[in-house]
Amino acid sequence: MKQELIRNFAIIAHIDHGKSTLADRFLEVTGTIPKEKIKEQTLDRMDLERERGITIKLQPVRMNWKDFELNLIDTPGHVDFTYEVSRSLAAVEGALLLVDATQGIQAQTLTNLSLAKEQNLTIIPVINKIDLPSAEIERVNQEIEKLLGVSKNEILQVSAKEGTGVGEILDKIIEKIPSPVRHETDSRQEETRALIFDSIFDSYRGVVTFVRVVSGEIKKGEKIEFLATRKQAEALEVGYFSPDFVKAPSLKAGEIGYIITGLKEVSEAKVGDTIIKQQEASSKKIEPLPGYKEVKPFVYASLYSTTGEPHELREALEKLKLNDASLTFEPENSPALGSGFRVGFLGLLHLDIIRERLEREFNQDLIITTPSVSYKIILPGLKETTIKSANDMPQAGTFLEIQEPMVKLEIITPVQFLGKVMELAQDRRGEYKSIDYLDSKTALVFYEIPLSEIIIDFYDELKSISSGYASLNYEFLNFKKADLVKLDILVAGDIVPPLSIITPKEKAEKTGRKIVERLKESIPRQLFSVSLQAAVGAKVLAREDVPPLRKDVTAKLYGGDVTRKRKLLEKQKKGKKRLKRFGKVDIPQEAFLSILKR
Ligand code: GDP
Ligand code: MG
Repeated sequence: MKQELIRNFAIIAHIDHGKSTLADRFLEVTGTIPKEKIKEQTLDRMDLERERGITIKLQPVRMNWKDFELNLIDTPGHVDFTYEVSRSLAAVEGALLLVDATQGIQAQTLTNLSLAKEQNLTIIPVINKIDLPSAEIERVNQEIEKLLGVSKNEILQVSAKEGTGVGEILDKIIEKIPSPVRHETDSRQEETRALIFDSIFDSYRGVVTFVRVVSGEIKKGEKIEFLATRKQAEALEVGYFSPDFVKAPSLKAGEIGYIITGLKEVSEAKVGDTIIKQQEASSKKIEPLPGYKEVKPFVYASLYSTTGEPHELREALEKLKLNDASLTFEPENSPALGSGFRVGFLGLLHLDIIRERLEREFNQDLIITTPSVSYKIILPGLKETTIKSANDMPQAGTFLEIQEPMVKLEIITPVQFLGKVMELAQDRRGEYKSIDYLDSKTALVFYEIPLSEIIIDFYDELKSISSGYASLNYEFLNFKKADLVKLDILVAGDIVPPLSIITPKEKAEKTGRKIVERLKESIPRQLFSVSLQAAVGAKVLAREDVPPLRKDVTAKLYGGDVTRKRKLLEKQKKGKKRLKRFGKVDIPQEAFLSILKR
């Protein structure tokens, strides 16, 4: 295809504003997928995405409209997956900014818009869900006018569900978004360079890289090289997404597609790397394309396999890492849990998704420890170290100070919930910074707040106090000195290291009390009474006891409804696998994650 006839674009929006549904309509009107084969959110290709109704992975697809070739990348909307969005945006020239007519602009609308602006993309604003009776088109029009400085007649109005206005969007894309022609005057123009924006591991075909060809052309069978790793390979197959893989003779400048390399080592084809041709590599010095910022994990938790071998878990993590460049991990040994991995995540949803993928796609049965942020420790002589787990915290008195990660938090909320939102932020040690109004009914508030205070359940809490209307976004700010202590949990007199957490000193007692209360509910009764204690150093701050099993409790299991009894036994058997013995007591998996819920 001639470059002049190509348009590359992404759809960006807050979660649930209708990106994947709009993509369905595009696939339909362009005839890319026959209408009867279109499911809801066709581009959400993982089972997990379909079940949860959220997009986790970016997904490219090529379509034809009139004489043009359109390459669309569907993106996730949740804050944990912003990295997927930023990579998609580096591969396109324009973005549809989709806003739900019943919700208006929300936090991720702003974040994704600023990512798109950083890449100098052409933005086409679209109001979606105009079919709903609660749509506030006028208000949302005004918000977008103010945000983008465009006039009302530039803003498209559609219903992705009913298909109204969808063809007009495609026409607008062709009219407004520039073709991927490069206006570079330097002599490098002709060298072939392709940007890897994603990759997957296929057990039959090895590493499959998703690329945007920036200049030149890559043909099937050509010898290629990865610039950062200097690894050489052959382009065994090239093609595009429809959204299934469709073979093609070559990928040309401006096009988005895939290259099958046959590489087996996941680390050899890095996301963000530049692919060049071997024959050009030797004769010229080729500059790498601007890659991606390395993402830093925010949240850490340890993963231990209850059944399998640690090397199986390692292989599973390595394969997932190829598909999810933001995943980081290192081996860890725990006296109680054996060999496992300390894994870094972008947030709690990310953790949850990775856990579920490990279990489903790799048959891993896991114990996951309480998530934590990382902390900086300043040692005598002003030496710094970073710790990623409460168990790495040095003894009190052996270090000068401990610093915790702070984030800039922005919350968008209807003004009637503003009071409650501010109360919540204050309760979580947030420091108020400023407030702005998107319109007369919608406020945008900024806080500086410790990351540890918002990773666990802040989002759920925010949703519940605002009837689902408030939304948030955050970005890392700095590390800040704080008065923090290590809170240990003792079960039957023994410290259970995976349950230890780092907490502000002034909250230690309250937090300790809550944890032992919660633990009491999740630890099965034993033949003896089990004490649960929360302690800082030698000082016990809270205590609960799990009473012993009484004989008549077991007696109740006999007689009565047989199926119910069998079900109970099966449930117990299933739960057993996930128990881990500490000293005299078995602790179930849910205890590790439940204790931090407030
Ligand atoms: P995404 O998270 O941005 O990809 O959003 P989805 O495409 O998954 O849509 C979120 C929800 O909004 C789904 O339940 C859709 O059926 C619904 N939805 C999307 N577009 C429309 C629309 O135009 N009208 C109505 N009524 N619902 C829509
Ligand atoms: Mg989606």
